[in-house]
Amino acid sequence: MSCRRVHSVKREALTGPWYWLRPEIRELSAYHVPKAKGLIKLDAMENPYRWPQALLEPWLEELRRVELNRYPDPEAPELKACLRAVYGIPGDVSILLGNGSDELIQLILLALSGRDRVILIPEPTFVMYRLLALTTGFRCVGVPLQADTFDLDYDALHDAIARYRPAVIFIAYPNNPTGSLWDADKIWELAHAAPGLVVIDEAYTAFSRASFLQRLGEAPNVVILRTLSKLGLAGLRLGALLGSAEWLAEFDKLRLPYNINVLTQVSARFALEHYSLLEAQIAQIVQARAQLIQDLSGLEHIHAWPSAANFVLFRAPRGRAAAIFDGLRSARILIKNLSGSHALLEDCLRVTVGTPEENDTFYRSLSMLV
Ligand SMILES: *Cc1c(COP(=O)(O)O)cnc(C)c1O
Repeated sequence: MSCRRVHSVKREALTGPWYWLRPEIRELSAYHVPKAKGLIKLDAMENPYRWPQALLEPWLEELRRVELNRYPDPEAPELKACLRAVYGIPGDVSILLGNGSDELIQLILLALSGRDRVILIPEPTFVMYRLLALTTGFRCVGVPLQADTFDLDYDALHDAIARYRPAVIFIAYPNNPTGSLWDADKIWELAHAAPGLVVIDEAYTAFSRASFLQRLGEAPNVVILRTLSKLGLAGLRLGALLGSAEWLAEFDKLRLPYNINVLTQVSARFALEHYSLLEAQIAQIVQARAQLIQDLSGLEHIHAWPSAANFVLFRAPRGRAAAIFDGLRSARILIKNLSGSHALLEDCLRVTVGTPEENDTFYRSLSMLV
């Protein structure tokens, strides 16, 4: 998963129909997903647990009744009602559903893009903000996090807000890939200082138990992103944008009418009706995260950062990240090598919290490699 620029492309050589391809698209490389068949998959922040057998039958029973010959309900009111109940979404907050929160990020950017407009992001952060900003015609300004603590550089962000007047600011709360949960009051000050829209991405809120949802009514320029992906339903592709009816009605004009398919609507509603099961899995993951961080901190040459999400970022000895990644890969364990993706992530790797057994296998393999 990277959006590195490909410098080898000769732009002047684009003739014939290739002339029409937007140069900024030509310069990107597609989001790369590594093959993971047969591997212990700890690279993509998935929930490692499936549903118990006892739930599969009633779920399949619901799927049997689905009319695949009919278009889905474009508004998905039942699913929205379930989300409202499970998340505790206040009555004055509206919901817009997306095919994953990635799609909602794209909708927001399509609605606000324009010549010479800027999106502002702290970096390193979720790579899709920059990738989608570039494909929707934005200029993307990244403000580096503070080295080593990965805290926000609040002064630099306030300066950048005044200087660039960004149309959109994305704040991942907690942040991917650092796992940091930044100061909520200081984020709120940034939101008040922002001239445009502020998107608070709460993809990992279940693992941090922190949210801006109850404060949403206080700031008309703030919207919140949620997703079911990290909760255990990555395969369904369901994200939700929460915000004022005014903003969401504008984004809704860009949404393709049937973006949430019938199988996702029925399955997500079913899963949310059994939310206590997901909560129990989350509690297990949070417990395993503490153990994993403790284990990694005990390794002499590894530095692991605290995490409010379902992954842990750690730094390998200088120049060793690729060898460690490859060594783990040979032991059939897939994590994410972030070294080289941003100056602040030199020698860094990210591991998703798996089952206690998977984490243990990872830890034992890693300890033999450092
Ligand atoms: C994983 C992730 C998402 C992507 O969510 P989807 O709903 O699967 O598209 C969004 N934001 C952040 C910060 C993430 O880490």
